This record gives sequence, structure tokens and C-alpha cells, in this order.
Amino acid sequence: MLLAELREEIVFFCRKMAATGLTPGTTGNISAFSPEEGVLAISPSGLEYESMTAADVVVLDLEGNKVEGQRTPSSEYELHRVFFARRPEVRAVVHTHSTFATTLACLGWELPAIHYILAFAGDRVPCAPYVTYGTPELAEAVFQAAENYNAVLMGNHGLLAMGADLEKAFLTASSVEYAAEIFWRARSLSLPNTLGADEMAWVQKKFASYGQQNE
Ligand code: 13P
Ligand code: ZN
Repeated sequence: MLLAELREEIVFFCRKMAATGLTPGTTGNISAFSPEEGVLAISPSGLEYESMTAADVVVLDLEGNKVEGQRTPSSEYELHRVFFARRPEVRAVVHTHSTFATTLACLGWELPAIHYILAFAGDRVPCAPYVTYGTPELAEAVFQAAENYNAVLMGNHGLLAMGADLEKAFLTASSVEYAAEIFWRARSLSLPNTLGADEMAWVQKKFASYGQQNE
């Protein structure tokens, strides 16, 4: 089986995404790229996360052709593919319809740096305009809006987070959702304070050595 380890990891994070309430039902999708093999593994379209196995994950090349797998790949494979093809540091992409990030995306608002945890994404989270799901036009609009950020809100749709591996991309998606909820709560009371770009850049540097380094 091609990309057996990455497929297992995708299943692990798909289940976690559902179990932690980060996306409802079968919405959202997760992928990872192997530059050595030049192929990506992506979750299947519309399949229950709870019963998903590694064999359900589909392997595609960078042109979008199926290389291995019985299932129909995620309808958003173009949205994932474009980041692997054009941002070499991105090796994993997580797409969710998480409630609070999507709430902001429905307003067409970006998420300002109201909490330092957002440094996983950058000094803010931009918002892409609405485009129909599963289209190359959506992929292009989201890619352009994302610039070099590690997360982007998708107008009237959801959230996309990316990173060097699945753990990082998932952590960024969860952190953006957390910060979006805090922003919503704070904004309901008043205008929250925001952190400056310099402080966010400094926190981003500090994150590189955060936690257990020798594991
Ligand atoms: P898939 O089930 O095809 O991955 O689509 C879910 C989704 O979120 C579409 O934007
Ligand atoms: Zn979606």
C-alpha cells in the first residue's frame, strides 16, 4: 500500500477532527504530501470518519490523477493539491467547517491577532471570498488569500489550515477555531485588544522551541 504511514495518520486526524467537534458530519477533509514519491494522500469524499480506515484514503499525483485507492477522493482535492504544488514547505492540509471560524467566514471577516496562540497561523487569519465548493476557482481564491499564512478562512464555507506535517496543520486548525470563539465572545462584549505584527512574529519564533524538544 502506497503511503501506508501517512494514510494511517490521516485516518487518526480525521477521527480526531470528528471526535473533538472540529467539523460536523462528513464535512472537511485532510491530506498529506510526500515530496519523495511526488504523490499525496487524501481523505475519501463523504465517508463517515468514525469507520474510515487507511484503505479508504486515496493517493493522487500532483495533476489530480488517482494513483491508488478504491474510493472517490475528497471533492476538495484541488484545494489541497494547489498548496502542495505551489508552497513547498506545506506537507499537510486540514479543512474544517468548524463553527466559530465559519461564523467569521460568513461575515467575510478576517480573524485579527486577539490571542498569541494564533501565531501558529501568522499575525492574523485572512478571509477568502466565497466560491462554490469543490472547484478549481475555489482553490485559486483560497490560495491567493492565504498568501504565506498557515490558515485562511473560506467565505461562507469554513477554514483551511496547513503545515509541515499533519500534527502541525491540525494544531493550527484547532488553535484558529479556539481563537475564533474567543474573538466572537470578546467582540460580543466590546472591541478586543489585538497584538501587533512584531509581537506575533516573536511568538512565532518562540513556538519553534516550545514544548518537549527531544522526543
Ligand atoms: P468531501 O467529503 O468531498 O471531502 O467534502 C467535504 C467538504 O467539506 C467540501 O468542502
Ligand atoms: Zn468544505
